[in-house]
Amino acid sequence: MADLDELLDEVEKKFCVAAPPRADANKAAKKRSPSGVSEDIDALLEDLKEDRHSEAAGAQSGREKKKLQPQPAGTKCCPVFLGGSSVTNGLGTMLSKRSCDQLRCTSCDFRVLTFDDCEWDDSCDYLFFRNNMPEREKLRAKLKRRRGSRSYACQCSWFTAAEAADLRDHRRLRWVCGKHRD
Ligand SMILES: [Zn+2]
Ligand SMILES: [Zn+2]
Repeated sequence: MADLDELLDEVEKKFCVAAPPRADANKAAKKRSPSGVSEDIDALLEDLKEDRHSEAAGAQSGREKKKLQPQPAGTKCCPVFLGGSSVTNGLGTMLSKRSCDQLRCTSCDFRVLTFDDCEWDDSCDYLFFRNNMPEREKLRAKLKRRRGSRSYACQCSWFTAAEAADLRDHRRLRWVCGKHRD
């Protein structure tokens, strides 16, 4: 159930063309209870509920459905998985452990790049990524061929996955799913 003030706001927006300042209007409405204005407001609230209801019903009918719910803005992996090169890229869920290919780093704000069938050389360090992100060709200088692995990097961290790995098990990596549009 929505908060009364919120509803009153909506009533104002909907029915009062030249509404007085918000706070005053609410105060006035409450003060004059139980007769007069407050009854009118009750009636208006009822109308409002009905409007909402019919909107909801409309959204469920087939024709409207197409128009109103084309796409949510995008869906995020939950949980977020990394994976070896045999793990399908895409939206990850509990039931479908796809490796996220829309990762973004919350620490350096770079998009995370991935390289299939590669692993990062042990000599990788912070400076290397600092200097070479996001140029894939330059980054390849420190990638070794490793069938089945997938290497990940942003400007501040790097990781090689040999199999599906839950990102929550790798707290060092400040990566989040940046949403998928399927
Ligand atoms: Zn994702
Ligand atoms: Zn980063």
